[in-house]
Parts: sequence; C-alpha cells; structure tokens
Amino acid sequence: MNFNTNKKNDIHNNIAENADCCNGSHHKNGKIVKAKFDLETVEEMGENHFMSSFNTPLRKDAFDLSDEEKMETISKHFRKIMETLGLDLTDDSLNGTPHRVAKMYVKEIFSGLDPKNKPVARSFENKYAYNEMLVERNITFHSTCEHHFVPIWGKAHVAYIPNGNVIGLSKLNRLVQYFAKRPQVQERLNVQITKELKKVLGTEDVAVILDANHMCVHSRGVKDIQSSTVTAQYSGKFQNPDVKAELFKHIS
Ligand SMILES: [Zn+2]
Repeated sequence: MNFNTNKKNDIHNNIAENADCCNGSHHKNGKIVKAKFDLETVEEMGENHFMSSFNTPLRKDAFDLSDEEKMETISKHFRKIMETLGLDLTDDSLNGTPHRVAKMYVKEIFSGLDPKNKPVARSFENKYAYNEMLVERNITFHSTCEHHFVPIWGKAHVAYIPNGNVIGLSKLNRLVQYFAKRPQVQERLNVQITKELKKVLGTEDVAVILDANHMCVHSRGVKDIQSSTVTAQYSGKFQNPDVKAELFKHIS
C-alpha cells in the first residue's frame, strides 16, 4: 500500500487515488472501483487511529533532501501556517518559531524516520547461558500521533527469552525510542519494535507492551485525561499462558 506517490495536496484525493484493494478500493468485474473517501471519513479514520501498514508509509524520495534542506523547507511552510492563523511573525517571541519547529521535527521528534539514525544493536553471545526471561520495564517513550501531529507518551515493557544471543540493555530503550520518533500509530509502533527485536535477537520469543497517553484524546475530541491505551504483542513462547503470567508478574 502506498499513499505517497501522488503529488496532489488534497488529502482525500490522495487517499482515494492511491488506495489499493484492501484499503479503500476493490475489484468489481475485473475493474478497480475506487471507494469514496470524503472529509468525514478522513476525520473518522483519524479518530479511530486507523493504521494502513506496518511499515511507516514513506515516499520514494524520502531521503533525497539533506536534513538542512528539509529544515529550510519545513521552516518556510510552518511560517505560512502561523501567518495563516493570523500570527504576527515580526513579534520577537514568534520570530524564531518556524526554525525551532523545523529543527525539532527533523533532528528530534521525527529523527526515527531516517534509517541513518537507527541505533546499532549488535547482539553478542549469551556467555552466561542465561536462558530465562529478561524484562526491561517502564521504558519511557515519546512519539507523535500521525493523525493529529500531537504527542503520544508512555511506557514500554519489553521482554525476551534469549536464544544464544543477547543485546545491551540500553539498546532496548534506544530501539523503542528510535521507532517512537516518527509520526506513529500505537499499534504500528508496537509491531515495529517487536519485529526489530526478533531480528536483532534471532528469536521469536519476544513480547512488547505499550501503555500510552494520546494528546489527541486528552486535550481535544473526547477530552478524556484518565484513559490510556494499551497495546501488546506476544510472540513465540510468550503466547504460552504461564510465560505470559510470569511476564505480567514482573511488570505489575
Ligand atoms: Zn491522534
């Protein structure tokens, strides 16, 4: 699925024209029938935190521009957004905001879009032959809701059962934070962390639980500041109820 090849600015055209058969269009008598996406649907999708793909939808030209070129462009556009809102950019307090936002996007909160920023998590031999569950709990992460571009923040609990290989403990935190530093949907963040850990550790026995707050739920829409969202993925041995119970004991 790819929403990204299209140059049009209109968000609903963009979605409708690029949707494939499992997402917005379907085949009827051999012909592709485009589903209608109106603005209401787009808004509804955002509220439901609809996820289109486990991979972050990136354009083919995502890394053609340097970080500096991206910051320059974002800064220009952000200035336009602020001006459109009616803000006076000659004010000393607002003057530097477009640049600050651009730098924050590229260098900080969306730096996890760029594979060059991915932490190198080399696994090494499990010399102590520790083959019990290892749990890294309460890993703090900050992410951004891709539907509203406002913060998601929470805790991750990551567990695995070593299969000959282990990685440095801090790498678990760093991997969580790398995938969090993208426009995200919580379910996708969960899947991306799990997939990467399986790859790095060479085992299916991985569990990732995320408990997160969404600013888009807290401060707008239903305005519920009490709720948090829990997602979890249990693979391999973690699907066994006893193993799962042991994990819950460790993180509770
Ligand atoms: Zn949202």
